[in-house]
Amino acid sequence: MKAPLTRSQERLFRLLKTLNQAMSAQDLYSELRQRNESIGLATVYRALEGLKLQGAIQARKLTNGESVYSLTQSDQHHLTCVNCGRSIPIAECPVHDLENKLEFSHQFKVYYHTLEFFGLCHGCQLGDEEKQNLSKVI
Ligand SMILES: [Zn+2]
Ligand SMILES: [Zn+2]
Repeated sequence: MKAPLTRSQERLFRLLKTLNQAMSAQDLYSELRQRNESIGLATVYRALEGLKLQGAIQARKLTNGESVYSLTQSDQHHLTCVNCGRSIPIAECPVHDLENKLEFSHQFKVYYHTLEFFGLCHGCQLGDEEKQNLSKVI
């Protein structure tokens, strides 16, 4: 990280570290309030923006348009169901080697990359079939 973190950035960074999962600014805000840390929502957004510019955290947009934040160390990808909105974490990362190659060939410092898969989860696929079977019966 380039610049030293501000106090609110530090608090959010520490919080994200202990939570170990992606959370929205609103959720992080309530989480801090629950821990009796007085902080404004605008400050949370500003601190998150600052952390993002330093490459300390990454933002990911959910299907409902909400952004969730997590630490960049976790090279984690998801299968996101467009029907129920469930995010299933996957263990593989096929672009890790590519990232190293690009850093070298373009002399570009890569903070993080995103890779997401969208579709129907197993449960929602079954739900669709059931509905189709039902309409056949009727
Ligand atoms: Zn689903
Ligand atoms: Zn990856």
